[in-house]
Amino acid sequence: MTLEQTQKRIKELTASINQHNYNYYVLSNPTISDFDFDMLLEELQKLELEFPQFADENSPTKRVGGSITKNFETVKHNYPMLSLSNSYSREEIADFENRIKKLIDGEIEYVCELKYDGVAIGITYKNGKLFRAVTRGDGVQGDNITENVKTIRSIPLQLNGDFPEEFEIRGEIFMPHKVFEQLNKEKEEIGEQLYANARNTASGTIKMQDSAVVAQRKLDSYLYFVLGENLPFTTHLEAINKAKAWGFKVPLEENNFIKKCNSIDEIFEFINYWDTARHQLDFDIDGVVIKVNSYNKQQELGMTAKSPKWAIAYKFKAEQVKTKLLEITYQVGRTGAITPVANLQPVLLAGTTVKRASLHNADQIEKLDIRVNDIVLVEKGGEIIPKIVGVEATQRDIFSQPTQYIKNCPECNTALIRTEGDAKHFCPNEWGCPPQIKGKIAHFISRKAMNIDGLGEETIDLLVDKNLIKNSADLYNLRFEQLFNLEGFKDKKVQNILDGLVQSKQIPFERVLYAIGIRFVGETVAKKLAKHFKSLENIRKASFEELIAADEIGEKIAESILLFFENESNKEVIAKLEQVGLNFSLSEDQLANTSNKLEGLTFVVSGVFTLFSRDELKDSIEKNGGKVSSSISKKTSYIVAGENMGPSKLQKAQELGVKIIDENAFLAMV
Ligand SMILES: [Zn+2]
Repeated sequence: MTLEQTQKRIKELTASINQHNYNYYVLSNPTISDFDFDMLLEELQKLELEFPQFADENSPTKRVGGSITKNFETVKHNYPMLSLSNSYSREEIADFENRIKKLIDGEIEYVCELKYDGVAIGITYKNGKLFRAVTRGDGVQGDNITENVKTIRSIPLQLNGDFPEEFEIRGEIFMPHKVFEQLNKEKEEIGEQLYANARNTASGTIKMQDSAVVAQRKLDSYLYFVLGENLPFTTHLEAINKAKAWGFKVPLEENNFIKKCNSIDEIFEFINYWDTARHQLDFDIDGVVIKVNSYNKQQELGMTAKSPKWAIAYKFKAEQVKTKLLEITYQVGRTGAITPVANLQPVLLAGTTVKRASLHNADQIEKLDIRVNDIVLVEKGGEIIPKIVGVEATQRDIFSQPTQYIKNCPECNTALIRTEGDAKHFCPNEWGCPPQIKGKIAHFISRKAMNIDGLGEETIDLLVDKNLIKNSADLYNLRFEQLFNLEGFKDKKVQNILDGLVQSKQIPFERVLYAIGIRFVGETVAKKLAKHFKSLENIRKASFEELIAADEIGEKIAESILLFFENESNKEVIAKLEQVGLNFSLSEDQLANTSNKLEGLTFVVSGVFTLFSRDELKDSIEKNGGKVSSSISKKTSYIVAGENMGPSKLQKAQELGVKIIDENAFLAMV
């Protein structure tokens, strides 16, 4: 290809990918397979890497993120970002309509739309390109989060049609329910605390430093308000329809997300409809917004100090119902944490039948004085799990007694403990309490630990319940017939598990060390320990002083390691795992490959390599004494670049003058 042809191809690919993005994320109507889409994207990435002079700043390759923002720049809004006045009663809406009637002559058209419960955003476009995205902040100035917003697929990077030269569009960014649920499912699997609601998760996500993580979170948006000088329309609804034509995801009349209303009755009809129908949406709304449609009339009405007089928000009440608390039960988590659960007389709330509600912890029960047989007030806000917010104490039976929080574990009957500063009670019976046993084995087999093919958490739960295993070492004693006799286990599945177990004996020492589950010894710490001590035997023999002398091992970790090896159950499992033949020390290859050649140097790894996987390359850097960092800064010594290195990283490296080397040059260094 000549340079000219290359430039043309980059333009073609950009336009085509933008169109497919639009079809998929705005219209929900893809016309190409995911595979073909990826091929187009890959081709564009390659060309941009090779010919950075043609790479557009708003290229769709930016969608995957990759830039790091340490501090978000503060930007003053061109037009203050005001909030609407809120109302909770229908009378206030009627007053609003009456007020406007008195101030304005003639027929008045209103537009009703949804009030999205997300994060407000103002996005400026210049010459059809996304220029800048700013959060609401305090309304006068907000944070520049452009790079993060570019990863949101439903927000166009490049507009179509007859757009004004410069304008701002405002709207809301949110996390769809199914994305939120998936995210929490992943958190649950690794035993982390769950996110409480989609709104806070979206607002936390949009302010993350690493745009690549933001890209994975699959945020979505609705944009619904166009601002600028000399805009070519006279009504709000006209503006929305134009914005749709330019490529924005706007609320559509056909979905009843937005509706022209000519009377207060029609406004109430819209409110009533969504008060119920909102529960079927895949995102949260917390009310309805009513605006005067005509721009002229909006101007005539003007503003108060805080908000426009031509608009009002009607907020839905957080839904509450009363029902009877039948029983309090207690769940034991994989880490031993106890969560009290209210079992309720089933009741309809926010469109679903609710039977259970969270009680959080002992303090919460005491604070609200919640007792069995009480009539309780259950609320569902943005949270997934409804909560109890109050008790009808006056309706209580005279013989009612305050709730006695359990003293023993409901799974294994061990006395519970509660350390100072912890809101939750814990079951200390790590090795005998079924959910904790399952949690440990699930960690052992997880992808970053022993990564055993064919074994998942469900299988582990089943094996523990059937009494076939009590700890991770027992996995290696499983026999074909034992697995084959389980329901749903066929030849192939059983063989797959057994093969996976055999293969796991090849897993290197640092991952075995991570897999055995010493508290506070995560992936990175396990690597440091392995490199410093070289074998499990050396770690086991190490004194407190020797432990903290190792790189990045603090007192908390050292104490935890000492405690781990004092425990009889741990000793037993470790001995069995050693017998099985897991790697309990660095291999000769690993020992031979360690050096201090890269000491004092910091590397950033980017792109795809032919000789190594990315993880192998990072490993090799660390084994030779170098440091790996995920972001390019003045401190970066080298970037090891493979195919498809992100264009933003390339640009940053060039700006800072950081040396870029390929994998061969890296090999020569070590
Ligand atoms: Zn227990």
